[in-house]
Amino acid sequence: MKKICVLAGDGIGPEVVGCAKAVLEAATDQLEFVEGKIGQAAFRDTGAYLPEETFDLMRGCDSTLFGAVTTPSLPEYSSPVLTFRKRLDLYANVRPVRTFARAGPSGSIDVVIVRENTEGMYTQNEVFDDSGVTTMRRVTRRACERIVDFSIDYALKNGRGAICCVHKANVLRSSDGLFLEVFRERMAGSGKALRAQEQLVDSAAMHLVTEPSRFDMIVTLNLYGDILSDVAAGVAGGLGFAPSGNIGDEHSVFEPAHGSAPDIAGKGRANPTAAILSGAMMLRHIGLTSAAQDIERAVTSVYLSGHLTHDIGGRHGSESFTEHVVRGLKSKESL
Ligand code: NAD
Repeated sequence: MKKICVLAGDGIGPEVVGCAKAVLEAATDQLEFVEGKIGQAAFRDTGAYLPEETFDLMRGCDSTLFGAVTTPSLPEYSSPVLTFRKRLDLYANVRPVRTFARAGPSGSIDVVIVRENTEGMYTQNEVFDDSGVTTMRRVTRRACERIVDFSIDYALKNGRGAICCVHKANVLRSSDGLFLEVFRERMAGSGKALRAQEQLVDSAAMHLVTEPSRFDMIVTLNLYGDILSDVAAGVAGGLGFAPSGNIGDEHSVFEPAHGSAPDIAGKGRANPTAAILSGAMMLRHIGLTSAAQDIERAVTSVYLSGHLTHDIGGRHGSESFTEHVVRGLKSKESL
């Protein structure tokens, strides 16, 4: 049995995580779930957005399935998401985005975006003085090496043929320059199986929209990866299509790339696909590969048979879409 920590969080978090859990339970009997608190509800009950007992729970489980949290506009707020990513040393953020339903005007997308997850612009170190604010952006050789190595390993294990290093080294010559230098070094030493590509982040954003098939895998720094994965999700149909995994050497947390979507929370309209596919990524990561494949096939088959969610013009809300996926899993012949 594998023990999974479930952190539903705020807004649509509990809705989509509930759907993902139902699908996981239908796919395998190898999971035991323990629930923890994070976000606004945790703050109301304990005075902390990431209580220490939640953190201990995450550390003690085989993996964590997380929904999303709402960011309050308080100057002293410190993001529980950035906190667990750093404290659990989840240095790789993996976001596979692909078209499940209708291709956009520039065609289908099938890209994996790997983003450095612990430093860059997300140091949360902002220094005030009389003239304004300076944000400390950190890029270390060690972080560059391990994210590029992770990407190469991921590409080789998952049949990806090319990795594009996305950067802004023409302006940020030393910091992004270091990232690019490490990418070139590591790719040169990785053998001949993978093609190395390089692109500036601004034109990469444009090409993701106009020619998504140009990209197979992207490796990039923290903020660029955050933005580009939402661009890619938009090309695939919306944020409901972008699952993600935060992966370190010892721990892992899987979450949909979207936020708590307060505008649709409580309405049953959220697309649970990103959360369900995050669950499948988690299964694959903890070694339950066949159940992960079953879920991915079931989701694909539900979309192919025309059952579309509200966000892409269909009639399915979170629950009815999930019911179709669960039904597909229970009658595997339809997969
Ligand atoms: P968001 O991702 O919550 O929503 C952006 C838009 O996409 C909204 O119109 C929303 O309705 C739509 N959307 C998102 N997920 C969807 C889904 N599954 N199905 C259908 N539509 C979906 O981003 P936002 O509005 O910028 O942020 C809302 C809150 O979430 C903020 O407080 C933000 O700080 C927080 N946030 C949290 C995380 C996280 O917990 N990891 C990530 C991003 C944003």
